[in-house]
Amino acid sequence: GAKTLEESLEEELAAKDLSGEIKIVETGCHGFCEKGPIMIVYPEGVFYCEVQAEDVPEIVEEHLLKGRTVERLLFKEPMTDEQIPSYQDIDFYKKQQRIALANCGQIDPEAIDEYIALGGYEAAGKVLTEMDAQEVVDTVKDSGLRGRGGGGFPTGLKWQFAKNSDGDKKYVICNADEGDPGAFMDRSILEGDPHRVIEGMLIAAYGIGADEGYVYARAEYPLAIKRLEKAIKDAEEYGLLGKNIFSSNFDFKLHIKKGAGAFVCGEETALMNSIEGKRGMPIPRPPYPAKKGLWGKPTNINNVETYANIPFIINEGAAEFSKIGTEGSSGTKVFALTGKINNTGLVEVPMGTTLKEVIYEIGGGLNKGKKFKAVQTGGPSGGCLPEDYLDLPIDYDSLLDAGTMMGSGGMVVMDEDSCMVDVARFFLNFTQSESCGKCTPCREGTKRMLEILNRITEGEGKEGDIELLLELGDHIKSTSLCGLGQSAPNPVLSTIRYFRDEYEAHIKDQN
Ligand code: SF4
Repeated sequence: GAKTLEESLEEELAAKDLSGEIKIVETGCHGFCEKGPIMIVYPEGVFYCEVQAEDVPEIVEEHLLKGRTVERLLFKEPMTDEQIPSYQDIDFYKKQQRIALANCGQIDPEAIDEYIALGGYEAAGKVLTEMDAQEVVDTVKDSGLRGRGGGGFPTGLKWQFAKNSDGDKKYVICNADEGDPGAFMDRSILEGDPHRVIEGMLIAAYGIGADEGYVYARAEYPLAIKRLEKAIKDAEEYGLLGKNIFSSNFDFKLHIKKGAGAFVCGEETALMNSIEGKRGMPIPRPPYPAKKGLWGKPTNINNVETYANIPFIINEGAAEFSKIGTEGSSGTKVFALTGKINNTGLVEVPMGTTLKEVIYEIGGGLNKGKKFKAVQTGGPSGGCLPEDYLDLPIDYDSLLDAGTMMGSGGMVVMDEDSCMVDVARFFLNFTQSESCGKCTPCREGTKRMLEILNRITEGEGKEGDIELLLELGDHIKSTSLCGLGQSAPNPVLSTIRYFRDEYEAHIKDQN
C-alpha cells in the first residue's frame, strides 16, 4: 500500500500548495513489515505506522501544517503515552545493529547523490587510490567476514583463491537468486541500497583482478532489478563504473542477468551455467569457480549481503568489523523473521545474539499469546530447533552443532499449533520439486522421503517409517552432488531429532 499512500500524499501536498516545501522520499524497506506502510516525518523523525491513503489529509493538516502529531498512527508499544516515538526508540530497531541494511529505509535508493552523501563510494575511492589488491584481500581476510549466502566460507580466503589464479580475464558474480521460501534479505538490500552492493563488487573485482561482473537476480524481483539498473547507469555516469575509475587504471563493467526462478540456480556452478545460457544444473567441484568459473575463467561469487558488508570493512577497518559478533562469526546477520510472531520483518543483529533475543525482544514474541514450539533457520536446507535452544547464540558453528544452519537468513517461528511433521513435509516438498534431477540420491531419494511423509500425515504411517527416513536422509546428505540435495533432508532429520514424539504419535494413531 506504500505506493498508493505516496500518490495520495503527492496529491494532498499539491492541493495545499506544499509540494515545493515538503519533499517526499521513497525509500527501500524499513524492515518492520508488520507495521507497514511506514511514514517517517523529518526533521522530527516521528514514526507513523500502518498508514493508509485515507490518513493522508489528517497527517498533512495536523502534522505538516499545525505541527501536531497524529496520535492514532504513532507506534505505541512499549512507549508511554507522552512519548513520540522515532526510529531509535522502538525495540524492534533499538536492538539491531545495521551494517548491510544501514541505508535501507534512510535514503532514496534511486538517488546516487544520497548514497554518496552518506559516505558511499568512499571505500571504493580509498581502495583504488591508496591500497594495492593484496591489501584489500588481506583486510577482508582479517575482518573474519564469512559468506552470508549459506555456506559461511571465509570471504577473504575465497578472494585470495581467485586472486592467486592465473588468468588474463576474471569475473565477479553477485548471487541474488534468493529462493528460500519466506526469505527477502537480498531483495530488500537491492531495493533499498543497490549502490552498496555495486561498491562491494567493485572492491572485490579490484582485489582479485577482475574487470567484469554479473549480478544474477531472479526475474521475480522486478523492483530490485529496476533499481539496480538505475544504480548501474548512474554509477557509469559518475565514472564509478567503466574505464579508469577514480582516475586509476582499473576498469570494471557490470551486467545484470535475470534468473528464471529455479532454486538450484543459487548453487554457484548452476548459476554460472545459467549465465552462460545453459540449463541451470550443478557440475561437480573441483575445479572450484576461483580456478575455473564463468566461461572457464577464474571467478569470485558472493551473495548480496556479503558484498553489502564490504564498504563498512574498508571504511572502518577489519578490526572494527571483527569486534562485532563472535570469534568465529564476525559482523552481523540479516534475517527475514516470519511465522507466528508479532513483529514480522527484516532484522540485522550482531552474530552471537540469541534466538530468544531475536524472537522475543525484537520479534515481540508469539502472536495471539500462543506458546513457542520451534524456530526454523536456514530455509529449506536448515532445521527446526525446540524451546531448549532459545538461548543458543546465532553463529555459523552453534547452529550447525544444533542440527540446523545459518543459511541465507530465513527464520520461521512456529507455535504450539504447528505440526512438525507437516512442517518437515512442507520444506521437503519444496526441495523435492526444485531438485534438478541430475543425481539419483537427490532425485529419487527426496521423492521416497516425501512419499513416507505424505503417508504419515495422511494416516497411513507404518512402523519402521522413522528409521527409513533417517537412513534415506543420511544417504542423500552424503551422496548428493550439490548443496540442494546435501541439505534437503535437514528439516526432516532435525524434526525427528527434536520432535520424534510427534512422528510416533502420528504413526501410533494410525495403527
Ligand atoms: Fe540436482 Fe539435487 Fe543432484 Fe543438486 S543434488 S545436482 S539439485 S539432483
